[in-house]
Amino acid sequence: MSETDQQREAVAQALENVTARLDEEKSHLTDLDSAIGDADHGSNMTRGFRKANEKVQDMDEGDAAELVKTIGVTLVSEVGGASGPLYGGSIMSASSEFAEDGITAETSVAFAEAYLEKVQDRGGAEIGSKTMVDALTPAVHTYKKSIETDDLEPLEALAKAVDAAERGVEFTTPIRAKKGRASYLGWRSVGHQDPGATSTLFIMEELLATAQTYLNGEVEATAEAEEAPEEVPDEVAEGEGE
Ligand code: ADP
Ligand code: MG
Repeated sequence: MSETDQQREAVAQALENVTARLDEEKSHLTDLDSAIGDADHGSNMTRGFRKANEKVQDMDEGDAAELVKTIGVTLVSEVGGASGPLYGGSIMSASSEFAEDGITAETSVAFAEAYLEKVQDRGGAEIGSKTMVDALTPAVHTYKKSIETDDLEPLEALAKAVDAAERGVEFTTPIRAKKGRASYLGWRSVGHQDPGATSTLFIMEELLATAQTYLNGEVEATAEAEEAPEEVPDEVAEGEGE
């Protein structure tokens, strides 16, 4: 199989996995959005991704960049509200990072950065606004640093980015919303996890699962693994039970 075909297949598989995951999480996302929004985030995401999945499966031509662009275009046209243009428009415009060299470690960093930049341009949210930006920002920064500074393999970098996104999602719960529908609630938004940050995490988890299949590696170096060393240091073991 040519490199281009392999990448097409990987994109199509990632989309299939994301669509299935969002279907599974539909009521979860709707519940989160009913607490601080209008209870449509689950249906918005599943409607958009199902349609994108159909469209991409029907494409006999086009490289990875064109497939990714189709996902974005479809989300924009299928999903209204805040999340359609934010997810769709940003995927659409960031897809151009894959146009020349396909998907590589370098272009995946460029894609991630372009995506985050577009989300912020469009929505005006910053870290702490209680939106998808709270999951995305640490994930993108961690991914970039892992690849460019720490010289990690993309798979390991992506695993770290997922951990960072997870902490970003947790961070949305205790803070007050400053953007989107949830901001209308003011302080009453405190104590609820943000739906868009949560769907961002689910999507990233599926990208990681797909990358694990395509890059044939197993990544164990998650943040939890690092925090829990296999061998208990002597001084800790000695102190136990006292
Ligand atoms: P809507 O708010 O129009 O009903 P959704 O329910 O599908 O759209 O999506 C809500 C999610 O969109 C929020 O949980 C939040 O993460 C994200 N969101 C809303 N407004 C913004 C914004 N200005 N910038 C970034 N993300 C936003
Ligand atoms: Mg909503």
